[in-house]
Amino acid sequence: MKRPLFIGSDIYRNSTYGSKHPLAIPRVSTVIDLCRELGWLTPENYRVSPCAKPSVLERFHTPDYIAALQKAEADQHVTDETRDKYGLGTLSNPVFAEMYRRPATAAGGSMLAAELIRDGGIVFNPAGGTHHGLADRANGFCYLNDPVLAIQTLLSAGLDRVVYVDIDAHHCDGVELAFHGSDKVRMISVHETRRWPFTGQLEEDAGGAAFNLPVPRNLNDDEFAAILDQLILPASEAFKPQAIVLQCGADAVAEDPLSRLTLSNNAHWRTVAALKPLSPRFLVLGGGGYNPWSVGRLWSGVWATLNDFEIPDTLDVGAQKILRDLTWSRAAGQAPHPHWLDSLRDAPNTGPIRQELRKDLRHLTARHSR
Ligand SMILES: [Zn+2]
Repeated sequence: MKRPLFIGSDIYRNSTYGSKHPLAIPRVSTVIDLCRELGWLTPENYRVSPCAKPSVLERFHTPDYIAALQKAEADQHVTDETRDKYGLGTLSNPVFAEMYRRPATAAGGSMLAAELIRDGGIVFNPAGGTHHGLADRANGFCYLNDPVLAIQTLLSAGLDRVVYVDIDAHHCDGVELAFHGSDKVRMISVHETRRWPFTGQLEEDAGGAAFNLPVPRNLNDDEFAAILDQLILPASEAFKPQAIVLQCGADAVAEDPLSRLTLSNNAHWRTVAALKPLSPRFLVLGGGGYNPWSVGRLWSGVWATLNDFEIPDTLDVGAQKILRDLTWSRAAGQAPHPHWLDSLRDAPNTGPIRQELRKDLRHLTARHSR
């Protein structure tokens, strides 16, 4: 059995979307630092992410959009026409120094990951998961769509049954559009109801290719366990996947500022552990996540779960220092909770399974068990 591989790059450490953007925080660099400190990351299981060339990105994105993105990076400025046409230079998708190279590195990493698991294996690319990117336009902090490019890479390697699971707090509108009506890709998304981008309604099935479950605010771990057992696992298994791609966004946890969902990171780790044995190929991507402590702890635990490493109850001094050195401009960052600083695992958030959720799950179960 091949060891899982971690794909990273220092470009995420040395670049920023700008100080006022939710993605101004360190994310992938924290995961790399924590995993190295814990002895979980070595030269043997770490790969440096390549920066994807325009010709490769054009397998999904339009050449004129990629050219506009490169020009915006070179000029560090966009015209009003470019802003309107391509969504570049907006509050969500600002002009910044590495605005082509950084997303192209995340996309290059996801495509490399797809190649690495061609004959089987497990890869984690925490910088990936930019699921809102559109073929010809930046959207929702996503300049490119690396999940689509990774899935396309798997399909061109000859696979014809790929399951895409997305547990980010936001609906994966860009991925769903790309594989609308596909009989080779099954998409399963769980996301907060009535939240941007407002797509992914219960009845919306992307021409039979998608299962969408909008969930209410304050979603708890027991409700998520029911979703995993009744929807995610059986709908994945029924498709007999040759590969599973998991978008493991970290913004559905209680302390995230961009959602009202209240999971603990145990929900994400349980999902990773449960999907792993269902397919010979498993690609795990990052996604949203806007609290620097939540993201670093959650994704480090994902890497531990993929490797069956034991997650310590209390971190050693070196790992605690990495968490103590993080800062966050939001008020919550001025007084971080004690467990953000000395542990990876959140306390479970248990609770009742609400009737409305039970009903929606029954509705989707009837579809995937047909
Ligand atoms: Zn999100």
